[in-house]
Amino acid sequence: MAATRRIVIENCSIATVDVADTEYASGYLVVAGNRIEAVGAGKAPEGLENVVRRIDASDHLVTPGLVNTHHHFYQWITRGLATDHNLFDWLVALYPTWARIDEEMVYAAAQGSLAMMARGGVTTAMDHHYVYPKGTGDLSGAIIRAARETGVRFTLARGSMDRGASDGGLPPDFAVETLQGALAATEATIDEHHDASFDAMTQVAVAPCSPFSVSTELLKQAAELARVKGVRLHTHGSETVQEEKFCRELFGMGPTDYFASTGWLGEDVWMAHCVHMNDSDIAAFARTGTGVAHCPSSNARLAAGIARVPDMLAAGVPVGLGVDGTASNESGELHTELRNALLINRLGAHRETALNARQALRLGTHGGAQVLGRANEIGSLEPGKLADLVLWRLDTLAHAAIADPVTALVFGAAAPVTLSLVGGEPVVENGRLVHVDEDAIARSTRAEARRLARIAARDLSR
Ligand SMILES: [Zn+2]
Repeated sequence: MAATRRIVIENCSIATVDVADTEYASGYLVVAGNRIEAVGAGKAPEGLENVVRRIDASDHLVTPGLVNTHHHFYQWITRGLATDHNLFDWLVALYPTWARIDEEMVYAAAQGSLAMMARGGVTTAMDHHYVYPKGTGDLSGAIIRAARETGVRFTLARGSMDRGASDGGLPPDFAVETLQGALAATEATIDEHHDASFDAMTQVAVAPCSPFSVSTELLKQAAELARVKGVRLHTHGSETVQEEKFCRELFGMGPTDYFASTGWLGEDVWMAHCVHMNDSDIAAFARTGTGVAHCPSSNARLAAGIARVPDMLAAGVPVGLGVDGTASNESGELHTELRNALLINRLGAHRETALNARQALRLGTHGGAQVLGRANEIGSLEPGKLADLVLWRLDTLAHAAIADPVTALVFGAAAPVTLSLVGGEPVVENGRLVHVDEDAIARSTRAEARRLARIAARDLSR
């Protein structure tokens, strides 16, 4: 049997994001195979065998890889549209275009979304895909293929909608599935792609789109399916004032109570946004272990409001960060969310004590791992965990004069990534993606964006 290959990284600052927030001003990290073997202060131990690579990481900060917990990859090719709208108006404006996506478009958009995030230090990505127009090929398969090619760890939240325009929903009827069709396709995706092992690269979650685009029955049966299969549940929740109003009018209760009534609170559930939560909603999330994907940039762009993240953390709610779809967050990079989570929450009730730089880094790493159900495997730099980590370069114009490395990373501009590893394998080297061609992806995404715009304009003028 071949000996385990080791990578030694030394002379760097390290923020482990372990339970005690252990940091080393100058430390080392040893990767053995796909796991972290050791991390500590000073130089790496002498006499390590089979070291295939030794990295002098002076002037770098090493952190766990960033974990994204909410996204819609297909939106990569509908960015820059409906830029001055609230959520419902934005959805109404974009659904006619989104309803015309096909497999080639979804694949290119997934490549673009993944490349942008990976280049910026994301090592675990997720995609909540819920637009499955009839006869458009294997969209889930195309998304998973793009993630494998990029080299990041990945959760596909297989979404669905069964409340089309004729049932009072927002999407056109031809872009929604039937209740049974959505459940059968979701089950088939789990059977084909979900890997429950410790070092899984691909996992699948069950993810009806939102309370206002799916039927009560789909929510209930989706929760049952996920629990039979042992996979996680994801959806949008409490994003806007209009959603709250919709739930009160239709169901006679707010979104959190509605989720509770359909089996949607639990430690196997995480929800995007959770902006409009009262104290009892937050207490219900804390009591049940329901997680939150906080998406500050998207919430600001759609003027949805400020999620009460400091109150959620104080109550013990697991919170991670999300880019959200890039039709409501054109930057598409998670670093922006570390910074905006911190800044936007300081505009809320808790002012300057709302969040600090270490808490923001924790949301983007360990918090994300928690809500994706993978905190045992990733999210902190500790022996035995998977070697998903990032070397951030802090000696350039942007960061060299900032006093503290974690402050530089979170408060400063997006730091260049010298190296990122996923399971010990390089995904970014010296700022460039290792496995895919960023320039080719830029060209193909532009071509697919233009093709979608042409098809939508042609259909809508008929
Ligand atoms: Zn979303």
